[in-house]
Amino acid sequence: MTLPNTMKALEKSRPEQGLHMVQAPVPEISPNEVLIRVKKTGICGTDIHIWNWDAWAEATVPVPLITGHEFAGEIVEIGKEVTGLQIGQRCSGEGHLIGTQSRQSRAGNFHLDPGTRGVGVNVQGAFGEYLKLPSFNVVPLPNNIPDEIGAILDPLGNAVHTALSFDLLCEDVLITGAGPIGIMAAAVARFAGARRIVITDINADRLKLAEHVVPDARTVDVTKEDLHDVIKELGMKEGFDVGLEMSGSQAALDQMVEAMVMGGKVALLGIPPGKSPVDWSRIVFKAIMIKGVYGREMFETWYKMISMLQNGLDVSRVITHRFHVDEFHKGFETMKSGSSGKVVLDWEG
Ligand code: ZN
Repeated sequence: MTLPNTMKALEKSRPEQGLHMVQAPVPEISPNEVLIRVKKTGICGTDIHIWNWDAWAEATVPVPLITGHEFAGEIVEIGKEVTGLQIGQRCSGEGHLIGTQSRQSRAGNFHLDPGTRGVGVNVQGAFGEYLKLPSFNVVPLPNNIPDEIGAILDPLGNAVHTALSFDLLCEDVLITGAGPIGIMAAAVARFAGARRIVITDINADRLKLAEHVVPDARTVDVTKEDLHDVIKELGMKEGFDVGLEMSGSQAALDQMVEAMVMGGKVALLGIPPGKSPVDWSRIVFKAIMIKGVYGREMFETWYKMISMLQNGLDVSRVITHRFHVDEFHKGFETMKSGSSGKVVLDWEG
């Protein structure tokens, strides 16, 4: 198969709002990389920060850069030193490119390598017809996982990594933040055998989507209902055993700490804007264990989520919108509305 020299790609071309559709060179791979023909991509909250060109994006993202990091596609070229992968293999992949010299990396904790660079954030990304990726980062897709689910394995991985931070079997779980990752975390908690699952937000559209994806989760609009009333209504005596904070909201974290059982366990994925005040004495006196969550474990999280998807975990309904990439403006507008689930862009045809 002869590859073209140039490709369509969505690029942050200038240090300003928006992305541009450009013709870019097809990436050249080195001996340990593969070239992937991208078929579907997901739009991430991170991509919205990059689109908006906020202070974080300005300080982090080099320009010009092809953005995007949530993808599924097919391997079309293989570097000389790559073993174990074939042309035609359907795949997704880990978008964190790690070094091998740090203490954590050498201990096998690849996701904790401090020198990590992000596909579509620090280096050329997946919003293009072709993507080059180290073979190490490639995750083959089984035939029964479709491309559009492959394209959301990155955020599903965040949800799985966070949700499986603590044992959930028969535990009461509180999730604050009903964005796509919070909703997928609720689905994972259900799959992993949690007892009661409560998910909070201040956005009615998102709570409706949460009910659609995880029908037996109790949704709470905290602008209308008090979490303590819900705890009583559900017949819970002491509070939640496990908390998954997915919103980055100070108010949500405060509510969570108050609603936890003594000695409860909390995993934090949501990123607060700037420094936010924390009532540490409350956390100390309730003996709460807190874990910060970053990315996905390479590759344990991927192993678990693919196994769960093959055994009945269904997150397909979290994808609410699909656009051809030529309509990327609509995709980003939909994401920015704040009331969608995952938005997937189609790069074929
Ligand atoms: Zn993402």
